[in-house]
Amino acid sequence: MKCRHCFSELTHTFLDLGFAPPSNTYLTKDGLTKPEKYYPLKVMVCDECWLAQTEDYAQVDELFDSEYAYFSSTSTGWLEHAKRYSEKMIQELGLNENSLVIEVASNDGYLLKNFVEKKIPCLGIEPTASTARAAEILGIPVLQEFFGEQLGKRLSKEGSLADLITGNNVYAHVPDINDFTRGLKAILKPGGTITLEFPHLMRLIEFNQFDTIYHEHFSYLSLYTVEQIFSAAGLRILNIEELSTHGGSLRVYGCHLDDVRQVLPAVEKILEKEKERGLQDLKVYSTFQAKADLIKNDFLAFLITQKKLGKKVAAYGAAAKGNTLLNYAGIKPDLLPFVCDAANAKQNKFMPGSHIPIYDPNVLFDQPIDCVVILPWNIADEVVKQNKKLKDAGVNFVTVIPELRNL
Ligand SMILES: [Zn+2]
Repeated sequence: MKCRHCFSELTHTFLDLGFAPPSNTYLTKDGLTKPEKYYPLKVMVCDECWLAQTEDYAQVDELFDSEYAYFSSTSTGWLEHAKRYSEKMIQELGLNENSLVIEVASNDGYLLKNFVEKKIPCLGIEPTASTARAAEILGIPVLQEFFGEQLGKRLSKEGSLADLITGNNVYAHVPDINDFTRGLKAILKPGGTITLEFPHLMRLIEFNQFDTIYHEHFSYLSLYTVEQIFSAAGLRILNIEELSTHGGSLRVYGCHLDDVRQVLPAVEKILEKEKERGLQDLKVYSTFQAKADLIKNDFLAFLITQKKLGKKVAAYGAAAKGNTLLNYAGIKPDLLPFVCDAANAKQNKFMPGSHIPIYDPNVLFDQPIDCVVILPWNIADEVVKQNKKLKDAGVNFVTVIPELRNL
């Protein structure tokens, strides 16, 4: 396999998580009697450009067949994050009724609605029909297509050039990152700004977030690598911010190569930090598997001990990252009888691979529970707060990543 960015031969494995079904293929009861497709889940790292990337395999298109669509607006924390971002950009870039804001992967309009409210013209690009419809109801024009160079050039020909292009949690999820970046270049107005948010590879390594690896998440990005991808597409990086979202993300600010604005010192600072942490050194990548295995084994040992002691354990949060962890550890309902999730769309379904049933969180109050394992560790504090009654009643809350611990 060749690197998706620089086309060097890929020979170094970063992490091998065996085989797993796509993380969002939640099963109905009928689905349990049918065969389930498993794909290899392995991340390679390129020793030229340091892009960490999932291994290629056949039928990659099937990943996007999932009927389940995630609506960004279901998370209040994320809505606030989007609102703060829009206010900041409107002010910093002086956006007004003559500007154009384009969001790639605009989802249900959770972000662009803030620009619509200020009468700033915008355009969403979103291939998922259900979320695109939700955005249109909010008065946001949506182009229901996949984004890449071809669409970028078409929009540019039609005169749709953006003062601000934004992409939140899409950059790491596109299979052809070069093509996507050339598309951004095509729709960027001279003097315009691009911002992209994606989880930072440095944090993934630092906090053992191996459960954020799943098939639909193609790239694991550092600033060092993104700078090269931008440069190859005729773009450069102006500024960078570290965010706490998704366990530690980066927000990069990009512009055309010939833009007059100067690069801010934050860029060099993060590049140095990445270098210090060994992100351009194979050693960091070759030792990660052992760290992931240790966590997996500790978690399994914990569940087995609880079972032997006759304790009742349940999980909270049927998130994609939970599926990666459970499937890698080979955990089934005998060790973890059910998962709770507040999302109606997931309730009464089953986790892919592990076939653990998903229930309404109220069931935690209907039966004696000794311990709740919170799978989406990024919202652990929120979950404990919401379930204070259980905690006060003596229920033990634990997270598994970055290490097995009580909350
Ligand atoms: Zn490469």
